[in-house]
Parts: sequence; C-alpha cells; structure tokens
Amino acid sequence: MKEQYRETVEYLLYWYDYNQRILPWRQDPKPYHVWISEIMLQQTRVEAVRGYYDRFLSALPTVADLAAVEEERLLKLWEGLGYYSRAKNLKKAAQIMVEQYNGEVPGDYQALLALPGIGSYTAGAIASIAFGIPEPAVDGNVLRVMNRITGSFDDITKASVKKKMEEELRGIMPKDRPGDYNQSLMELGATVCIPNGRPLCAKCPVVHLCRAYREDTWQLIPVKANAKKESTSCERTRFVLKLGERYAVRKRSDKGLLAGLWELPGIERKLPISGAEEYLKACGYSVTAITDMGEAKHIFSHIEWHMQGYLAELAELPLEYLVRDTAAYGESGDPAAYAFSDLQFVDADTLAREYSLPSAFEAYKKQFLVS
Ligand code: SF4
Repeated sequence: MKEQYRETVEYLLYWYDYNQRILPWRQDPKPYHVWISEIMLQQTRVEAVRGYYDRFLSALPTVADLAAVEEERLLKLWEGLGYYSRAKNLKKAAQIMVEQYNGEVPGDYQALLALPGIGSYTAGAIASIAFGIPEPAVDGNVLRVMNRITGSFDDITKASVKKKMEEELRGIMPKDRPGDYNQSLMELGATVCIPNGRPLCAKCPVVHLCRAYREDTWQLIPVKANAKKESTSCERTRFVLKLGERYAVRKRSDKGLLAGLWELPGIERKLPISGAEEYLKACGYSVTAITDMGEAKHIFSHIEWHMQGYLAELAELPLEYLVRDTAAYGESGDPAAYAFSDLQFVDADTLAREYSLPSAFEAYKKQFLVS
C-alpha cells in the first residue's frame, strides 16, 4: 500500500503546480490564516467560505484579537457557516495560544492536536501547509481518493482505517513539500475525484495508477458501512412577533443544539394559522394581524426541523409580562427596548448588525432582515 501512495507524490505535485485554485489562504499561508480557513472549510464549500474568511480576518486579524473577542460578535462573524461550536472552540484555542504560545499558532503537531477543535486532519493541515512539517491531513476527500487509487474496500467510517492511512502517508510525505502534497490530495478530491457523481478520470493525473479506474469500481468506493444514521424529524411553529418596528428574538439555552444562539420564538409542534393566533392570544399577546410565512425545512447533522412560520403583528405587550430590563438594551437606556419574559424586541438594523440568528431561520428572517 505504502508504495502505491509513494508513487502518487511526483504526479500530484506536478499537477498541483498547474491546477491549484487561487485561494486567499493559499496566497498568504500564515499559520493563523491556514487555521481559520481549515475550520471554515469543514462542511462548507470553498466558494462560500471566501467571503466569510475575508470578513473574519478583517475583524479579527490576529490570534490575540480572536482570544479577546466578545462571544456575541464572534458568533455574528460566524453567522451562516453553521456549527457554532467551531467558532467557540476557535476562541478557546486562541486564548490558550495567548497564554502558552505568545499569541502564536504553535508550530508543533502534538501541540496543535491538544488544542480545542483541532483534530488530526486540521493539525496535519496547519503543520504541513504553514510550517512545512511532514504530517498527513486525512479527511473524507483524501480517504476517498486514496482508497480509489489503491482499490481499497476498507470502511472509511472506521477510525482505525483513517489511522492506518495517516500512518502510511506519514511514511511517504515529501519532506520538501508536505503542505503542497496534502493540498494536492484535497484539491484532487474536490475538483476531479469528486464525492458525488462520476469522477473526472480523463483529467486525473494518477489515472495510470488508479485501481478503481482500471477495475471500474469507483462507484463502490469509498465504502461507508454505517454512514447513514437515521435523522430525527421534528415539527416546529416559529413566530416573527412584530411590535412597531421591533422584532422578537430569544436566546437558546447554553446546552444542546444551537447552544447560546438567538432564535425566533416558537413551539414544538406545527399549528394551523387559526391555532397559531389562538395560541398567541392565550399567551397574552394582542395580535392585530397574522400572516402565513409558509413552511421551511432545516437539516442539522442528525435532526430535521420541519417548520411553519407566522408573522404576527402586536399592538402592545401584556403589562403583566412587561419587564424593563437594562441588560436588554445596555447603558443607552433606550426605553423602547424591552424584555418580554425571555424575549427581546430589537429593531431590524440592530438585529442584522449585532445578533446572530442561525441559518435554520433563514426562510423567515429574510422577510424582515436586510443582510
Ligand atoms: S482515476 Fe478516477 S477514480 Fe481514480 S483517482 Fe483519478 S479521478 Fe479518482
């Protein structure tokens, strides 16, 4: 197996020199840049990441800036990328870098691996691309490409299979260009030996080495024995509660799905429009108009939300629930900002600027937020 891996090095490096995409983190591969880009690229397409990456680095250009950022601002910068725990781990890791590594990303594979949110793939990517350390970076792309080249039917959902591939690749990493070799594998997986549909074997620099091509088994590889876990389907009603020019949001609990993020209020079942109006009135809201905002679906990794949304215009807040809350509007003392039980009513501009509403609410928030 190792020899088959070794044979790919020369061809992939040559191909990469002429075929790599020009990406901002490749043009300026400082350790901090590589780290941020690799975390953003997990589960998100390169094209989508570009804008987030530029915005993030303009706002937080150094490790120290990231370590010191307010969580609310960090989540706002991460809005749209999903998987918010990754952003929180970035900050935790940055704080460790400030305390233990003089505000720098450590240039050591084991030290990287010990940081929050950094697994073997990310540690290998940072070590090899930013520091030239010959460590492999094995993700789903690399597992697919390598198993096709070698014709392996190993189950890539097994940790032992990934570990074995890492060990074998570690033995053949080119000492002079480990970062380029890792990136050539990632690039081949993203643009030629693609995950969905027929790979572009006619354009592949290692077609002459590829067993899956020779044996026409590409559609059987990679093997993912336990890949499809059943996702749980949940029904929700979500409300856009409008009071004058303000809209209601509330903070989710610090634990579980979308922990600590803002959300549109709602309940855990779907209601028809008449039931929704009745429900709101029973809660004490003075609803003057209610509009159907339609159905929407959001798929998390293991849960699907099937939502029905309503825009409800309110005349006022019920007095028995109305609480002036300085924490809700800070030092400014804006008397129009209120906390209603656990809700905050916020104008659209402030919501767009300062509050991170996850993309699960995209279908409804776009009706009142200007992005
Ligand atoms: S020849 Fe085809 S299947 Fe083999 S690595 Fe290249 S693109 Fe993938």
